[in-house]
Amino acid sequence: MELKSNKELNRHFEKLKRLRKLREKEPDNTYHYWEKEIAGCEHNIVEVVEEMLKKQTPIKVIVNEAYYSCPVCGTIRSIKQKHNFCHDCGQALDWEE
Ligand SMILES: [Zn+2]
Repeated sequence: MELKSNKELNRHFEKLKRLRKLREKEPDNTYHYWEKEIAGCEHNIVEVVEEMLKKQTPIKVIVNEAYYSCPVCGTIRSIKQKHNFCHDCGQALDWEE
């Protein structure tokens, strides 16, 4: 199961690799342009990682009889499948009463 944030992170890392290669090829007159692009890409990576780390702290699930929903993205699942994390957004889920 690949989470949305993992996919996003991979996408950013691929872009970063491409940008670094482009910077190597044209180190002189376009150097600042690639530096700016790379900095932007790195900023996006940090944001995704911060969000992923935040999601590791469990948050109480919202239970409604036979169903429960993720407190972050609102995905609804059957109470029969009590997952420790949301399969859609990756949020860690707290089942304590
Ligand atoms: Zn979720």
